[in-house]
This record gives sequence, C-alpha cells and structure tokens, in this order.
Amino acid sequence: MALLERTDLLAPIREKVEAGERLDLEDGLQLMESDDILALGELADLARRVRGGGDEVYFVQNLYLNQTNVCRVKCKFCAFAVTEKQSDSYTYTGEELVEDAVRQRGLSGFTEIHMVGGESPHVDFDYYVEIVRRLHEAMPDVHLKLFTASEIHHMTTLSGLTHEEVLRELRDAGLGSLPGGGAEVFADRVRRLVAPGKEHPDFWFHVHDTAHRLGIPTHCTMLYGHVETYEERVDHLLRLREQQDRTGGFLAFIPLAFHPEHTVFERRGWRHTTGSDDLKLIAVSRLMLDNIPNIKAYWIMMGLPLAQVALHFGANDVQGTVVREEIFHAAGARTETEQKIPELVRVIHEAGRAPVQRDTLYNELRRW
Ligand code: SF4
Repeated sequence: MALLERTDLLAPIREKVEAGERLDLEDGLQLMESDDILALGELADLARRVRGGGDEVYFVQNLYLNQTNVCRVKCKFCAFAVTEKQSDSYTYTGEELVEDAVRQRGLSGFTEIHMVGGESPHVDFDYYVEIVRRLHEAMPDVHLKLFTASEIHHMTTLSGLTHEEVLRELRDAGLGSLPGGGAEVFADRVRRLVAPGKEHPDFWFHVHDTAHRLGIPTHCTMLYGHVETYEERVDHLLRLREQQDRTGGFLAFIPLAFHPEHTVFERRGWRHTTGSDDLKLIAVSRLMLDNIPNIKAYWIMMGLPLAQVALHFGANDVQGTVVREEIFHAAGARTETEQKIPELVRVIHEAGRAPVQRDTLYNELRRW
C-alpha cells in the first residue's frame, strides 16, 4: 500500500522525466515535500540517465587557496571572515601565493587552483590582477578558477570599472573560470536575514551573465539549510535554470549545506542539515536543473560516505582532492581537508561507477 501511494504521488513527475519534459515550480515543491527519499534518488538517477549521463563520476586534482580572510560584509552564516585588526587576519601577496602553490604542486601535481576570499576594503583592483598574473606566469598549465561573483562585484566598487571591464582584465591576466560562491539563496527575504551586507542577487547574475558572454565558464551554488523555505530553494534552482537557458555557461551546480558552528546560528541552536535533506537536495537539483550537466556531491560538506550515496541521487561529480579547505572547516566541517586520488577512486568504484579524472572544463584526463 505504501508503495502504491508513493508511486502515485511521484508518478506524474516520473512521466515528465521519462518524456524529457521540463519540471515546473509545483513539481519542485512536490519533490521537496516528499519524504520518500529512495524514490527521489531513483527518479533523479533516471533523469540523469535519460539526459545522457553514463557511469562516469568526475573529480579534479585541485588546490584550494584563500588570498585573504579580511572581509567587510559580515554574512551571518560565515565563520571565516575577520577584520584586519584581528590577530589571525591575513592578506597574502601574489608572491606568497605563488610560492605556496609551487611548493604544493611539487607534492600533488594539481591541474586547478580554486581560490576565493573575503571582500577586503584594504586592497585595490591591481592587487587582484597581480595575483592572477603571477599565478598564471608561474604555472601557465594550471587552470585558475578564482573569485566569486561577489568578489568580482567588490572589484568594481574598488576600481570604478564595470563587471565586463574587471572580467576582461582578469581574463587577460590568466583567469580561467569563476567558482559559484556568493549565491547563497537568492530570495530577498533570506538574503536580508542571513547576508544583509551582500550585494543584491541581480549583481550575482549579471557577473555570471557577463562572464558567459565573454566565454568565461562559471559554476553555481546554493547555501541551504538555514532559514530558507522549500519554495525559496526551488525558486533559486529555477533562476539558475533560466540563466543557463540564456547563456549556457554554468559547468556545474554545487549544493552547499550550511554549517552553523562558530556562527550566530549556533548560539540560536541551529543544527546541521540531515543526510536525508542533503540527499534530497542533490536529487531535486538534478531533476530541476535539466540544462546544467554536472551536479556535485561536495564531500567537504557532506563527508565522503554520504557523497558516495549521492552518486545514486543524481550527482556525477565529487569535486576533487581539494588540498587544504579552510572556509567550511572554520564553520566546523569535520571532514578531511584533503583526499588522495586513490581514496576518491576507491569510493567511486565501490559505488559501482567509473572514476574519471577531469580538468576544470570536464575534459577527461584519465579513466581509473
Ligand atoms: S561569506 Fe564571504 S562575503 Fe560573507 S562574510 Fe564570509 S567571506 Fe565575507
């Protein structure tokens, strides 16, 4: 009986998925409100395969850097940012970043640098250009995936330039793509509550839109599990889908579970998202985002065991080796800060899938 009920509730959505039809807001809400987590996973995996997905699960060998932890914005969910006067503040020069990255490259041979940081009012735009130029000159074959849309917007306020002018200058210095941070949840209500100092989501979209039109691919995210409703989650996904329809430049979507430790939310009794919620969001993202090819199970947030399960809930990417993640660990993430390739390969194999090492642009480098 329970099986019949479950089949009935999701049957119209299944029919749409099988027919390759687009799901709408109502469908998204129906999926979010479903507690039948296994049925959601099965449906998301079906959607992934109907749209051409195979057994491949991707990962990249990458290095995480943060150029500064000084930030003026004060998002309430952030445990990473400090003021310049605090004793643990840092702002690395281009030279220091290059020295660090070159040393790490000797150890791990990464193909990508992922770097984001705070919005420091104590640097100028030339600082950013110089970082990119130096990293690119020192490691021209490493893809530079640098700076969130919020940071790009911050650079326009520092310099008086437009988004396009900033992006062109960074691209000419060696920037390869943008990570997806700064999106949080787009709904105004949520934004006012958790990130009142952050720019309006229209700017986030304008940066990504401009980047795509300049041929710079980008990523997109949602930071979920704080004050947002199911409807606000689905709305967020639909806005990303509309943007992808317009410009097609998103390489992947990465759902980011909120970690409350060391934030005001911890004092208010907020707890981590549950595994069930994490898997549900992976599944619903896959189902709603029919035009974004890759959904990442970000093991830094969810842990490797749950990321492995997420591979059966629509995810086809486990991000990468990472090497030294700081932002989510500042907020209490208890996962490792690095995974070695053999461990990622083992986890993917044991999920019954085929591990493929990729570059940032999803070109296959090695099949394990
Ligand atoms: S999330 Fe980013 S913008 Fe917000 S306070 Fe932290 S470092 Fe600053």
